This record gives sequence, C-alpha cells and structure tokens, in this order.
Amino acid sequence: MVLRNLVVVLGDQLDADSAAFDGFDPQRDAVWMAEVSAESTKVWSAKPRIALFLSAMRHFREFLRSRGWTVLYQEMVAGTLGGHLREAVARHAPERVIALEPGEWSVRSELAGVEGIEWREDRHFLCGRDEFAAHAKGRKQLRMEFFYREMRRRHDVLMENGQPVGGEWNFDQENRGSFGKEGPPLHLPPRRFEPDALTREVIALVNERFAEHPGDLTQFDWPVTAGEALEALDDFIERRLPQFGEWQDAMWTGEPWLFHARLSAAMNLKLLNPRRVIARAEEAWRQGRVPLAAAEGFIRQILGWREYVRGIYWQFMPDYLERNALGADQSLPPFYWTGDTSMVCLRESIGQTLRLGYAHHIQRLMVTGLYALLLGVRPREVHEWYLAVYVDAVEWVELPNTLGMSQYADGGIMASKPYAATGKYIQRMSNYCAGCRFRPGESTGPDACPFTSLYWDFLLRHEPELARNPRMVMQVRNLARLSPDQRAAIQERAGRIRAGEVG
Ligand SMILES: Cc1cc2nc3c(=O)[nH]c(=O)nc-3n(C[C@H](O)[C@H](O)[C@H](O)COP(=O)(O)OP(=O)(O)OC[C@H]3O[C@@H](n4cnc5c(N)ncnc54)[C@H](O)[C@@H]3O)c2cc1C
Ligand code: SF4
Repeated sequence: MVLRNLVVVLGDQLDADSAAFDGFDPQRDAVWMAEVSAESTKVWSAKPRIALFLSAMRHFREFLRSRGWTVLYQEMVAGTLGGHLREAVARHAPERVIALEPGEWSVRSELAGVEGIEWREDRHFLCGRDEFAAHAKGRKQLRMEFFYREMRRRHDVLMENGQPVGGEWNFDQENRGSFGKEGPPLHLPPRRFEPDALTREVIALVNERFAEHPGDLTQFDWPVTAGEALEALDDFIERRLPQFGEWQDAMWTGEPWLFHARLSAAMNLKLLNPRRVIARAEEAWRQGRVPLAAAEGFIRQILGWREYVRGIYWQFMPDYLERNALGADQSLPPFYWTGDTSMVCLRESIGQTLRLGYAHHIQRLMVTGLYALLLGVRPREVHEWYLAVYVDAVEWVELPNTLGMSQYADGGIMASKPYAATGKYIQRMSNYCAGCRFRPGESTGPDACPFTSLYWDFLLRHEPELARNPRMVMQVRNLARLSPDQRAAIQERAGRIRAGEVG
C-alpha cells in the first residue's frame, strides 16, 4: 500500500483523541512509535519511571492495534529518535509525517530536523502556548494567581454569574493543616493496579537492561492504560478528595500517599485528560460530596499550576535550563541516589521516591528541594535528579518546578521569594523530627538540624540580594540577632555539612 500519513506518537502522547489522529484513516495511514534506550540514560532514570513509560507505550500500541490500526513500533533501539524517524520515513515513504508538538524543547528541536513534519498543537492542555504568551505579554511580573483567575473565567470552572463560587478565588489558608501527634486519620490506601502480563514483561526487561539504575520495581502498581487512569481518578474523587485540601502539605513517616491524587503521571503521559479531572472534582463539590476548599484547592493545582508551569517552560526555554541566579556551585550529595542519610525527613522522602517513583509536592519542595537550595547545589544537577526519579517527570513540568520554584534559580519568575525555611517547618508539618537524631530548633552544636544550620548560612551567604526582596525582609532582618560568634559557628557547621561530615 502507498502510505499516506505517518503519525508520530511519542512516549508522553498516549492519547487516543490527540490532534495527531484527526482524520486518521486506518486503510491509508500508520502510527510510528519508538522506544529509544538513550531516553532512559540521558538522565540516569530510575526503574519505576522507565517501566511506567515503556509499559504505557506498549499498552497504547496494543490498544491501537486492537482497533485495526497499523503501528510501526520499535522496541528498545539504540541511536536517536530523529535518526530512527528519518529511517522510517525513508523506508515507508509516506506522503506526510504528522506529529503533535512535543512536551520537551530538545525533542522539538531534534525532530525539527526531520524534513516536512506537519506539527499539530497538543490540545490536551487548556491553555495554548500562544494564549500563554498573550497572557505574559507586557506584564512586568508573572504570577500564577492572576493566570489561574483568567483560566477559571475562560473555562467557566467554579464560577457563578461571572464570580467565583463561595465569593473567593482561593481557599489556600484552609489548606495548610498538619496532623498533630495522633497522625493522619484512618484512610484507605489508593487503588493499586497489579501488573498484567505486558507490564511484568517490561519489569523483567527493565530489571535486566537497566539493572544499575536506581529504584526498584517490587511495588510497581501505576495505572498504565486510559481505562486504569479513569479508575484511579474515581478512586481519588471518592476516597481522598474530601480531605485533600486540609492535609495537602502534611507529611507522615511511612505514609507516602496520604490524601494525594497520584494522577500526575497518568495526566503527563496523556492517558487522562485534565478537563475530565477538573469536571469530576467540580461535580463532586456541586453534589455536596466534598468541601469547596478541597475541590478548589485541587482544581487550582491542575487548571492553575500545571498549565502555568507549562506556559513558563515554553516562554523561557531554552536558556531557562541554564539559569543559576544564586550562583549555586555544590554537587548533589550522593545520598540522593540511595536514601542513605541519618536525616529522617530526607531518608523517608528519598527512600519512598526510589521505591515508588513518588513523593508529594511538599516532600519535593520542602524536603529534598529545600535541602539542595540551602546547600547551594548546582540547579542543573538538581533538575537532572528530579527528572530521573519521579514517574511523572517530564521536562516541561519538572524544570520550572525544580529550577524555578524550589531552587529560585530563575531569579523570581516562578516564585516571588526563595522557599527557604529551617527544620522547624518540617517539624510542624510532619512527625519526621520525632524520630531523628537532630534537633530542628538548633542551628549550632553537635545535635543541630542540618536544615536549620544551612538556613542561617543561606541567609548569611545571600544577605545583600535577599535584602532587596520585600518578601524576604523579615527573614533577613533576623540575622541582626546573631552575634559574630554565632555567625562563625553556623558557617563552620555549614562547611562541615557541605563536606559530608554531618548528616
Ligand atoms: C521540585 C519539584 C519537582 C516537581 N516535578 C514534577 C514533575 O516532574 N511532574 C509533575 O507532574 N509534577 C511535578 N511537581 C509538582 C507536584 O509535586 C506533583 O505534580 C505532585 O506531587 C504529583 O502527585 P499527585 O498526582 O498525587 O498530586 P496532588 O498533590 O494530588 O495534586 C494534584 C495534581 O495537581 C497537579 N500539580 C500539583 N502541583 C503542581 C505543580 N507545582 N506543577 C504542576 N502540576 C501540579 C498535578 O498534575 C497533580 O497530579 C514538582 C514539584 C516540585 C516542588
Ligand atoms: S531534625 Fe532536621 S534533619 Fe531531622 S527530620 Fe527534622 S528537619 Fe529533618
């Protein structure tokens, strides 16, 4: 047969309703997919992330084939994506090559080298790249909150007569609870998805081919098809959304999931449409099944943050990747790849990350991210770690969150001030400190919490630039309370922490 369209589907474009399939004719068109092994090694990807991508891709291939579509699929090939696509085009000589805009800048530039591709916009997102550029145009400062309000209005989400329901745009103040001594209330664990035969095959492959990579697959239970992603959504809306808002920021030893959605990976692979997720959350509130603060708090993450970070990514790439506003120059401590540290908060957060490919937002921002910020780790290295270890890691969402929000390396595009805090923040939001040999209230001495020592050292190192930030003035002012001896002791301890002698 003469091939009319060759439709390229990348590993994070597993959406049967994608614009790439508009006008698809199974008699004349074919889909092209490839597993390029270098994608798993260009950052040292953890096993859960590799397994999820491969399993979801192979399930998608089977789904398309079950519809009678031709899928040209290359399993675990060496070389580059662009090289393999060029070869496929030369071999099958299609009249046209169609591809959806990739989510990653470098993939977009690599594929741009393949002649004659027809690009289609990824309509998975609720805000197009041009729409975000229009929002950003002429603004001195970008802030998620204003973008989010625009999105609420444009998509008529949680609105009544042109006003936000409940009279407020944002119920964040109600969303900062911690559990107290008793710990989290009784809750059911999230729905698991036992690996089927295809996933088990992938797990065996990853364990063999990527044996040296971090992480393990004994507990792999992620949704890998659109059907499973919908079941995961139902499970979250029914069982965890009602309490999501209140304990969104709380952490607890041995409780990786708490009331979180576990939906980011399914959405980022495009197995699940964010419109459906938002609609289900709003419907649950309208039916009186969840409080408004929970529904709004959850919807803000998806309609607000998720769309906003994508906008930032495309607005500021490619130089965004190179930013290092605080001149951070340290290496990432080796325990980020093993979890082998006596700091309980880091051991818990990194341990579950390597085991499950998951940590929730506050663990990423205020434990692993905070420690790297205070230590002064090169943002590029921090970025590569986050991109490697999480099952939901795709550059367009990971990079602004890591480099911008958590490391302040973009100098204030994502966050209006650095998320700098002492160990007392972690003590307030978790029970980690109760089991730790360090004391969060102390900044010097043998038991001082490394976060707390490094926090003061961070303020001392960056005092002049932080003092210019109105939102940091109070924090910087507290430096005046430190005597010269205290300053010297903090700096001495910070030096020992950096040298790996403490922690
Ligand atoms: C340093 C750092 C790195 C991160 N890297 C990623 C990443 O690679 N991929 C990723 O999807 N998210 C990333 N996030 C955002 C957030 O931590 C995850 O989306 C969330 O933890 C996923 O778990 P969940 O599905 O249980 O989310 P929930 O806590 O239940 O939140 C619901 C949904 O909201 C969305 N969301 C929430 N916060 C954000 C945010 N800041 N940016 C974008 N979407 C958000 C996600 O789609 C998530 O599924 C990162 C955050 C930080 C601080
Ligand atoms: S004392 Fe410090 S290092 Fe230990 S768990 Fe608390 S914050 Fe983490």
